[in-house]
Amino acid sequence: MKTRVLSGMRPTGSMHLGHYHGALKNWVRLQDEHDCFYFVADWHALTTHYEEREVIEQSVYEMVIDWLAAGLDPDKSTIFIQSRLPEHAELFTLLAMGTPLGWLERVPTYKDQQDKLRDRDLTTYGFLGYPLLQAADILIYKATYVPVGEDQSSHVELTREVARRFNHLYGRGGGFEQRVAAALARLSKDDQRYYERQRKAFGETGAHEAWAKGEALVRRNAAALEGWTDPDTELLLGHLKGSGRSVLVEPQALHTEVPKLPGLDGAKMSKSYGNAVLMRDDPETVARKIRGMATDPARVRRSDPGDPDKCPVWSFHQVYGNDASRQWVRQGCTTAGIGCLECKQPVIDAIVAEQQPWRERAAALTAEPKKVHWIVENGTERARTVARQTMKDVREAMGLGY
Ligand code: ATP
Ligand code: MG
Repeated sequence: MKTRVLSGMRPTGSMHLGHYHGALKNWVRLQDEHDCFYFVADWHALTTHYEEREVIEQSVYEMVIDWLAAGLDPDKSTIFIQSRLPEHAELFTLLAMGTPLGWLERVPTYKDQQDKLRDRDLTTYGFLGYPLLQAADILIYKATYVPVGEDQSSHVELTREVARRFNHLYGRGGGFEQRVAAALARLSKDDQRYYERQRKAFGETGAHEAWAKGEALVRRNAAALEGWTDPDTELLLGHLKGSGRSVLVEPQALHTEVPKLPGLDGAKMSKSYGNAVLMRDDPETVARKIRGMATDPARVRRSDPGDPDKCPVWSFHQVYGNDASRQWVRQGCTTAGIGCLECKQPVIDAIVAEQQPWRERAAALTAEPKKVHWIVENGTERARTVARQTMKDVREAMGLGY
């Protein structure tokens, strides 16, 4: 079975190069190897934009067009809209019961965003809870990998804690011991003894090697035994770890080489800071924005030497250049051999060239709104099947199966 990948983006405006290089590029890359689920996080958009529904409405399908234009393939990736799946809200509610308030108050983005987005009132219940909603989004698909920008790392970490706690609290119910015994009985006598040995070693020493050996044994049997199910694997892996069944899976964040792309002013590129180059900016706009971009503040005159490490344009050379071009920049900048506009030109050219295929594909998709709607419709139904199954497991584990 392919590993599951899940990620989402908020439809709060136009997509920019930070979204692309920080996350979307990875989404496209991952779809060949993994079972990828990508969603429009419209409820998450409401956590900050609850007074601006128009922006959200306008951005939903435009964002999906940007995803497709960048190379997402609906035959490989499941593309859907969060609000169409109330199961996410159900899991959020159930997880909320046992999640300590301190876990949410400690998430760094909580205070950061309140400070940065001062024009909005973010002292809301929804804004505090949104990392937990994100945990529900991830856990409901039992995703292993979550490709996101660096700013989202703490949310994936919270998701792991929430899953661990859930499995600890609820993974033992429903005749856990008997079910473990029944699954174990299906292994050969030798394998049973081997499993017990690894379990004991892991319990006593916490040795990773014991865990890895036990896990490999379980996975080998899972692949070989007729009628073996995922819950059987979860039972034996949970028991091996000394916890209950792994009803929910602990995910890992996946970053690109550019986990944080700066904007025109050097701060993180963000549409809310007004410092973004959009995926669909036309060439003239790209040129104007990059030409006006901040540079090393110490380089006032053309004849002053500069320091690339103090210049946000340098980050763009990291993304768009190669060793030779970077050498040219470093040499030219530190000796005042080239001017800032000269240094920016290759960046402008590279962005415009990168955008060219996006522009063409986006134009074709814009002309066929029905097709885009149908892609989302299809993906939403595919996602629903998975989400429903998880909720069945979760309700049963929590004793709500009556
Ligand atoms: P913005 O920051 O422009 O307001 P957003 O925060 O509303 O955008 P999200 O949906 O939270 O957008 O982000 C979508 C994805 O893009 C996330 O994985 C996020 O980490 C990533 N991302 C956003 N901005 C950047 C950036 N400047 N550099 C790298 N990754 C980024
Ligand atoms: Mg963000």
